[in-house]
This record gives sequence, structure tokens and C-alpha cells, in this order.
Amino acid sequence: MSAPYRNPVKVVLPFFVVLGAAVWYFSRPGNTLLGGTVNTAPRHRQVWEWLRHPEAHPDWMVHAGERCGAAPFQIPTDGFIGYLWDDSFRPGHRHTGVDIFGGTEAAQTPVYAAADGYLTRLGDWKSSLIQRIPEDPLHPGRQIWLYYTHMADAQGNSFIEAAFPPGSSEVFVSAGTLLGYQGNYSGDPFKPVGVHLHFSIVKDRGGNFLNELEIGNTLDPSPYLNLPLNAHTNQGQIPVCPEGTTTDEPSP
Ligand SMILES: [Zn+2]
Repeated sequence: MSAPYRNPVKVVLPFFVVLGAAVWYFSRPGNTLLGGTVNTAPRHRQVWEWLRHPEAHPDWMVHAGERCGAAPFQIPTDGFIGYLWDDSFRPGHRHTGVDIFGGTEAAQTPVYAAADGYLTRLGDWKSSLIQRIPEDPLHPGRQIWLYYTHMADAQGNSFIEAAFPPGSSEVFVSAGTLLGYQGNYSGDPFKPVGVHLHFSIVKDRGGNFLNELEIGNTLDPSPYLNLPLNAHTNQGQIPVCPEGTTTDEPSP
């Protein structure tokens, strides 16, 4: 007696067809069922590699003060842009900005204003600043905001410059002004993040900034920095200025 023969290909193949279709479906650009999920896995691997061996990848770095081609804003800090706008760290999550990993310890990599504008720091902000840009350089007539965060250590000790204490409001700074230093503050001292700056462009309503945690309240930063920073359309490119298109601002 022998068991009835089953061709293993016929048994296993449908499983892989269904699996493949599911992977394709959930990773499509613009898929909204899981909140616009994209395949962030390759960037997880790159960030992990960068954090362990930053010295091995100088070609992955952007530099504070650089302006890629005709970009209206300058790069706010040194590092590897590891995560992009609308990346996804868990089902339903949509990343509202870019994460620039300095490849250093906390409190070492400076963060500079990306443009001229007016800084605000709310009374309970340990690691964050927001900068009002009265005129969106790409859409004249509307106001936008630049948000800079993770400028504190795991315990919430701030690395923001003393010139911008909690409660600061409408302090004018020009592009290239030192704002603070990259940190690893996450809100949970037991789960610090890798040292980086999170930088995002936030929409305005009625003269106020909207909640930065909602993707719909933020703008794709790609055209503002002239880099491929949209997780859906970036095809595995490391976002750096193409050779010869960089204008360095005077040393900030
Ligand atoms: Zn981020």
C-alpha cells in the first residue's frame, strides 16, 4: 500500500501564487487598505548598516547647508536619509517626514534651519521646534511650517540651543542658524530611537500648524529639497545630491 501520489508542485504552487498576489497587493504604491503601506524593509537594512558602519558609506551622506540644484530649502543636518516621507514602520503607520541619521552619538551632529522663518517651541516641547515659513516657495500665497524633532536624549534632556527655550514664539532665524543637535528621544526612555533628525513640512490652517502626526497634514518634501524622498516613487535610490548640483551655503 502506498499513499496516493500528489504532485508537490500542484500542492505548493497555489500557495505561492496566493502569497505573491497578496504581497503585490499590499505593497502597491497608494494602497490604502493598510494606510498606504510601502516596502520599507530595504531601508530598515540600510539604516541598520549605516548605524553600525557610517564610515563605510560616505557616499550615502547629505551635508548640512547643501542645496541640491534649485531646491528652495537647504539640507538641515549631516547624515544618511534613512527613512522617507510615507514610509511605514507598522501596519497603518505612515511616516510624515524624513529621518536623517547622523551616524554619531547623541548631541554631536548639529541641526540648522533649512530656510528663513519664525521659530516656535511650545512649553512642553523637549526635542522639537517648528518654523513658520510665511510664503511657500513652491506655492506662493500659502504659509507652511518646518518641523524638526528628536533633538533630546533618551531621558528628554534637550539639545535645543539655549536661544530657543520652551515657550519661544515667532523668533526669526535665517537659513543655516544653529538650532540644536540630533538626539535619540522617543518619549520612552527605555526605547530610544537611533540618533537622527526627523524633518517634515507641515500644512497650515488659519495661521496655525496642523497636527504633524497625520500624513495628510504634511507635504512630500521631495521638491523642497530636490531629492527623491517619496517612499512610493523612490526606486531604491539613496537620496543624495547628484554630483555637481550642490550649492554649499556659507558655513553656518
Ligand atoms: Zn521620522
